Amino acid sequence: MAHKISDECVACGTCISECPVEAISEGDIYKIDQDKCVDCGTCADACPTGAIKPE
Ligand code: SF4
Repeated sequence: MAHKISDECVACGTCISECPVEAISEGDIYKIDQDKCVDCGTCADACPTGAIKPE
């Protein structure tokens, strides 16, 4: 299981520096590499729009 970023993402960049395994990549909407994510939830806590949720 991994966390996923929904279309509520505003690409602010807050989550990228929080991820301990560098699983998040930039884009119009940011993306989490499902193979790298260790499901720690740090990014979800950091996201100002609540766009990141457990799958
Ligand atoms: Fe990175 Fe943790 Fe978010 Fe997965 S849940 S993308 S490991 S910060």
